[in-house]
Amino acid sequence: MKNEGKKVIEQARDQDKTEIAGKESGKHSFEVDRRSVYKCVQCGTCRSVCPVFDVVGWESANTRGRMLIIKGLLEGRAPLEDVLQSLASCTTCGICASRCPAGANPPEVVEAARAQLVKCDITTEAQEKLKSAVLTYGNSFGETKDRKHWLSETELSKIPEKSDYVYFVGCFDSYRYPEFAKKTFGVLQRFGVTLLPDEQCCASPLLRTGFKKDAEKVMQRNLEQIRKMGANTIITSCAGCYTALKNNYPEEFRVISLPEFLAEHLEDLDLKKLDFTVTYHDPCHLGRHNEVYDAPRKVIEAISTLKEMKNIKENARCCGGGGGVRIGYPDISLELAKNRLQDVPEGVDYIVTSCPLCVRNLRDAGGNIEVIDIVELVAMAMG
Ligand code: SF4
Ligand code: SF4
Repeated sequence: MKNEGKKVIEQARDQDKTEIAGKESGKHSFEVDRRSVYKCVQCGTCRSVCPVFDVVGWESANTRGRMLIIKGLLEGRAPLEDVLQSLASCTTCGICASRCPAGANPPEVVEAARAQLVKCDITTEAQEKLKSAVLTYGNSFGETKDRKHWLSETELSKIPEKSDYVYFVGCFDSYRYPEFAKKTFGVLQRFGVTLLPDEQCCASPLLRTGFKKDAEKVMQRNLEQIRKMGANTIITSCAGCYTALKNNYPEEFRVISLPEFLAEHLEDLDLKKLDFTVTYHDPCHLGRHNEVYDAPRKVIEAISTLKEMKNIKENARCCGGGGGVRIGYPDISLELAKNRLQDVPEGVDYIVTSCPLCVRNLRDAGGNIEVIDIVELVAMAMG
């Protein structure tokens, strides 16, 4: 695995060399909260859990290496391509933070450092493409079709203009899994939930990759609509949207994930028991980052038999899809997903998760067990 990983990172490194060439490094001073960086005492506990290090095998691609590089930048080292490679390949999965005996929060530090690289005009081509797609088209894929293309004219005309509850669909379900969006909205409409008139990307891809100022613009457009509508609860089925809405938007409304909403309304849903055994993959940004562990399990257990994966909840291994790694380093991302599939127990009918990015990455990794979103399981149980 390490050799395979080495090949993967060598390809990625070559790719970065060209992208960074010609940029003026060190144009600005590098500013990241020193206290958070110096919390890291270089003990190396995190080396054994960083999923990227597990694939790549190089010190600069593990948590400790990243923290050391950021320290160097604070102390005046010019940000060169190895820095970009190291910082851009962190999925922000957060397992290192959960294990760190010194209380460091490396993904937070990495994100802050990425924002500094953006300030210094040091970014990858993939990151620039992503930013431009979000700012130009309001979605991370650069899709030009209407965000609500998955609804018919008649369905569109029936969407309430105002409601206390809004379903925030997200780019992934809008454009890659419209069938999830349709199923989710189908369930939520029973409870009077509506949609934003002109939903934009939640800004998670920009926030995670350091484009903080650009993220503000997109967030503002969503915020204006939420305020105008007077909604007090936002429901989302994407773990990335969830963490952005909950932790990066002003605390003006309640943010709830689809599994939490479903768990709260189980009795109203009238779900039938299915003869399935499934396992559940905790998305990092729903689980470790926000501690939503019980709600999805409650929903699953109301429908089927749950057989847990090898590493679960705060110990769940990352699918590799987050932090901009899927776009920037697809090969590394895929290796992480393959590793996660090794945690799947024998004798399950489905791998269930509650994030479309996890669905996509785990599906891309192959394997012989179908990966489904929790809403699909619920839809089956609703008959
Ligand atoms: S981040 Fe925490 S666990 Fe990792 S090397 Fe630093 S102090 Fe140790
Ligand atoms: S957040 Fe995850 S990928 Fe990033 S350094 Fe920590 S363990 Fe590694």
